[in-house]
Amino acid sequence: MVHVALMSYTPDPERTIAAAARVSTSLVGATKLTEKLTPQAVDRLLAQLIASGHFSPFEHASFTFAVEGISRVTSHQLVRHRMASYTQQSQRYVPLKEVNYVTPAAITAKPKLETKYHDVVRGAHHLYLEMLDAGIPAEDARYVLPQATETRLVMTMNARELIHVCSLRLCLRAQWEIVELFERIKAEVERVAPRLGAELKPKCYRLGYCDEAESCGIFPTATQVVGERR
Ligand SMILES: Cc1cc2nc3c(=O)[nH]c(=O)nc-3n(C[C@H](O)[C@H](O)[C@H](O)COP(=O)(O)OP(=O)(O)OC[C@H]3O[C@@H](n4cnc5c(N)ncnc54)[C@H](O)[C@@H]3O)c2cc1C
Repeated sequence: MVHVALMSYTPDPERTIAAAARVSTSLVGATKLTEKLTPQAVDRLLAQLIASGHFSPFEHASFTFAVEGISRVTSHQLVRHRMASYTQQSQRYVPLKEVNYVTPAAITAKPKLETKYHDVVRGAHHLYLEMLDAGIPAEDARYVLPQATETRLVMTMNARELIHVCSLRLCLRAQWEIVELFERIKAEVERVAPRLGAELKPKCYRLGYCDEAESCGIFPTATQVVGERR
């Protein structure tokens, strides 16, 4: 099961972003600005930055998450996001003695196939252990492990990239496991930076329409909007 814990983050992240943004139009420096900014001014500034698409000040706030219980399917999708730092548990150095893996609900819903699924995954793991016992290095034995295998990692991402990645991965057209992962990441950010956390949302909420070929139904597609206007 997906587990996310916020390990550390830029202190007072929303104020840091707002102060950085103010530096560009102010005679005084960021330290003075940070002291002077009221919570209302911070809110207003963040809203202005988002509305004007001025995202670079969001790079000054970073968040480090411990992520556990995701499949290798999802970690592969996650690391496609390049504006972040990752450290993942190594399958070369860590022999996976326990069989921990993700079972999608779509498979659980079909009991006969679910049984076969468990048999194949556990069978693969059994062979993996047999190979380790035979002296095959973990880095080679792991070739037999399925993509369902659980992994853990640490990820650091700045707020600009979090906004971007959530715009893609909180979309219901993304795969359920990565949606779940970013729902938990959003909840962790909201806990310490609610204004920023509220900006972690699917792109359609910002666009006002769905730019995918098919909409999940929350917003009409661009074609439907244009069609309706004609
Ligand atoms: C629903 C969904 C389905 C997908 N399906 C597939 C698939 O079938 N096959 C597949 O291969 N991938 C797939 N992807 C991954 C996708 O193509 C991107 O690789 C991934 O979403 C990373 O996002 P990104 O490229 O916007 O940027 P990130 O790596 O998150 O970077 C953020 C932004 O920085 C800028 N940037 C980063 N690196 C560069 C660069 N080198 N040059 C210029 N600008 C850069 C871009 O503006 C980019 O948007 C899918 C993604 C989603 C959300």
